[in-house]
Amino acid sequence: MVSSTVGRSLRRCPRDDETPIDRATLAARDAADPLSALRAAWDVPDGLVHLDGNSLGPPARTWGQRMAREHAAWRDLQIRSWNDADWVGLPRVVASRLAPLLGAHEDEVAVTDSTSVNLFQAAVAARRLRPDRRVLLTEVGTFPTDRYVLDAVAALVDAEVRAVPRASLLDELASPTADQVAVVAVAHVDFRTGHRHDAAVVTAAAHAAGALMVWDLAHSTGALHVDWHGWDADLGVGCTYKFLNGGPGAPGYLVAARRLHEALLPAIRGWFGHATPFAFDETWTPAAGATRFLNGTPPVLSLLGVDEALQAFAGVDTRALDARAGMLTSVFVELVDERCPGTEVVSPRDPTARGAQVSLRHTHAYELVQALIDRDVLADHRPPDVARFGFAPALVRHVDVYDAAERLASALAEGAHLAPRYAARRTVP
Ligand SMILES: *Cc1c(COP(=O)(O)O)cnc(C)c1O
Repeated sequence: MVSSTVGRSLRRCPRDDETPIDRATLAARDAADPLSALRAAWDVPDGLVHLDGNSLGPPARTWGQRMAREHAAWRDLQIRSWNDADWVGLPRVVASRLAPLLGAHEDEVAVTDSTSVNLFQAAVAARRLRPDRRVLLTEVGTFPTDRYVLDAVAALVDAEVRAVPRASLLDELASPTADQVAVVAVAHVDFRTGHRHDAAVVTAAAHAAGALMVWDLAHSTGALHVDWHGWDADLGVGCTYKFLNGGPGAPGYLVAARRLHEALLPAIRGWFGHATPFAFDETWTPAAGATRFLNGTPPVLSLLGVDEALQAFAGVDTRALDARAGMLTSVFVELVDERCPGTEVVSPRDPTARGAQVSLRHTHAYELVQALIDRDVLADHRPPDVARFGFAPALVRHVDVYDAAERLASALAEGAHLAPRYAARRTVP
C-alpha cells in the first residue's frame, strides 16, 4: 500500500563544491536561534537524541514538581478541589492555552477525549449539517484510527466513505461527483510519509464543492504553523501527547469554527457539555461554543500534565516553530543524502510540503530503527519499510540532527541492521 501512496524521490548527489555540514556550524545555528531556549523546558536525558516527539513527546521538566503540588492540594482539599483548585474549570483553562497554537479563538477549542473520539464527534456533527449528501471523503492510507472511525460513522449516519489517493484529493473535489461530498476528513500531515497539505487550498476546494472540512492536526499542532482562521476550516481534531508533550494518553482536542457553533451538535452529549451541568436538568442544553463537545468527567490528572506542557509553549510564535522544523528536517535530508546509502527519502524535499518529519525507506527499516534506539536515537518504524524521524522544533537541536545522522550512517556502515537481535518484533514499533 505504501508504494502506491509514497512518491519516489530522486537521490541528490552532493556536488564537489558544496561544503559538507559540520557540527560546529550547526551548534552556531542553535546558538543563534531564540527558539533553542525552549529545549530547557523538557526533560530529555543527556546524550539521548529524541526524534520521536511525533509519537510521544518528553515530559516537561517541571512535571514532577507540578504533580507533587497537585497531589498535596488534592490531599488537603479532597473533593473541594473541584471548586478550590478549579478542577472544574481546567478543560477551559487548557483550551485557552492551546488556542493560540491553533490560531483559533478560545471558545472554538475543547480539550477532551482521544483524537479518535473527537473525530467521531466531528464527523457525525458535520455530516448532520449536510443532510442531502452521503459521502465522507478521505485518503487512502490515512492514519488507521481515522479510517476505522469514518467507516463506523458512515454505518451509523447513512453515509459512505470514499477514499482517494492523496495526490487526487483536489481533482476529486473538482469532479462532477463532488456534489455528493458532505465532509472532507484528512490529516494535515501524513503520519507515514510526512506529506503536508496546503490546508487553505484544500479547505477552499472542499467549500467550493459545498462540503465541510475536518482536519486531523495530530502531526501539526506544536510543530507547524496552524492557521485556523487563515485556513477558514470548519472542524479539527488532534492530540496533545505528540508534539505538545502533554504526556502519555493525555486528552485530545476538537476545534470548531465559530460560525458553526449555533448548529453544531455533538453525537455524544454528556453533562460536562451541558450549559449548566450542576443544575442536573432532565434535558441537555448545549454549553456555549466548543465546550459542548466535552462529555464525561474530565481526566483531571492528564489535563494537569497538558496544562504544564502548554505553559512552556506560551507566547511561542508558530511560524518560527514551522521554520525551525523546516531547517531541522532539511539538514537531516541533506546529511542522509550524503552519508546513508541504501536509504531513500520518501518525505517531500520542499519543507513547506512536509511536516516536522523525515521518513526514510529502507529494506530493513524495522531493524535499523532498533539499532538506532540502541545507539540512543529515538525513532520509529511504520510498516512496511519506513523508518520515521520526528523533529519536534520545540526540543530538537541542530546538533541532535547531526548526531542522529552520524549514528545512522555508522549503523548502516557496520551493518547493524542485519544483526538478528534487532529483528525481534516488539508490541509498539
Ligand atoms: C496519533 C494519531 C491519532 C491518534 O489517535 P488517538 O485516538 O489519540 O490515539 C489519530 N490520527 C492521527 C493522524 C494520528 O497521527
